[in-house]
Amino acid sequence: MKETCPVCGAESELHCVPYKIPYFGEVMIFTAICDSCGYHTTDVMMLADQKQDRCEKVIASPEDIDAVVIRSSFGTIEIPELGVTVEPKRGDAFITTVEGVLTRVERVVRMLSKDAESKQRADEVLKQIEEIKLGNAQMTLIIDDPTGNSAIISTELFFKKDLISTDL
Ligand SMILES: [Zn+2]
Repeated sequence: MKETCPVCGAESELHCVPYKIPYFGEVMIFTAICDSCGYHTTDVMMLADQKQDRCEKVIASPEDIDAVVIRSSFGTIEIPELGVTVEPKRGDAFITTVEGVLTRVERVVRMLSKDAESKQRADEVLKQIEEIKLGNAQMTLIIDDPTGNSAIISTELFFKKDLISTDL
């Protein structure tokens, strides 16, 4: 498949890779890499019967931390308990675990803690994330995706070893 590069306008190749998630089904991964300028974009698409435009899961135990998160590039991640919202970014889809999402949040929070006031707030959020990872605190993971291509898949459905967590 050919696609016009949104950055330089050159024709680039679009790759579609099916990705099988145990006991859930297939997810199509689209990757386009522009040969001229190196622009890279990734997105995911799920089968129609799995589509949901809002997913919500309470994360309360270490097992929940291992739940799989699929976020298309139209999905907004929200964690009310942490006061965190991760806006979608075009071409930035990923398949990871709840822990992987928390690691991304930690990265963003660290980047934003520039002055003393925001650093104190950041430290509080980071401490709270630590407690959640240990199973001492709980949070709600919400993904709003108008395209319905995002999902949170519980680990009760499969064994962890079957899964390969990837940062696309
Ligand atoms: Zn390009």
